[in-house]
Amino acid sequence: MNDCIFCKIINGDIPSATIYENEEFKVILDRFPANEGHVLILPKEHSANIFEINPEQAGRLFVLATKIAREMKTILGLEHLNVMQNNGTVAGQTVFHFHLHLIPRYENDGITIAYKPMDLCDAQIEDMRKKLEMSI
Ligand code: 5GP
Ligand code: ZN
Repeated sequence: MNDCIFCKIINGDIPSATIYENEEFKVILDRFPANEGHVLILPKEHSANIFEINPEQAGRLFVLATKIAREMKTILGLEHLNVMQNNGTVAGQTVFHFHLHLIPRYENDGITIAYKPMDLCDAQIEDMRKKLEMSI
């Protein structure tokens, strides 16, 4: 994808602060982090989002994410971390190349990654359960 900023980072056309790389993934620091040590995991193969990524690749990405998170825990002395992954503009996606955020969290860091829970009744939950019940 020649107009994709993350493809350019992966190709080396745009510099990045890379902390780990293998044949399939590149792990970089977010240039505009939510908190210090905000990490992005990028598959080298372009796909826009969760609706496009190869599911097996997504599985391998999450295995890597657990390893990276544990290294971050040790190196940075972390106790708290958000995993975030946005799909589509309404969901907050701004770069349309699949990526997973690992965001270190500290006591009183003032960062808000939050939503206000809806107050649904059991019937509404059951309606949605029926709608979404699936066999994959
Ligand atoms: P999204 O909003 O799509 O989930 O996340 C995109 C992320 O990419 C943002 O957190 C943003 O700060 C980061 N980002 C945007 N441009 C660059 C860049 O040129 N280099 C790096 N390292 N991160 C970037
Ligand atoms: Zn791309």
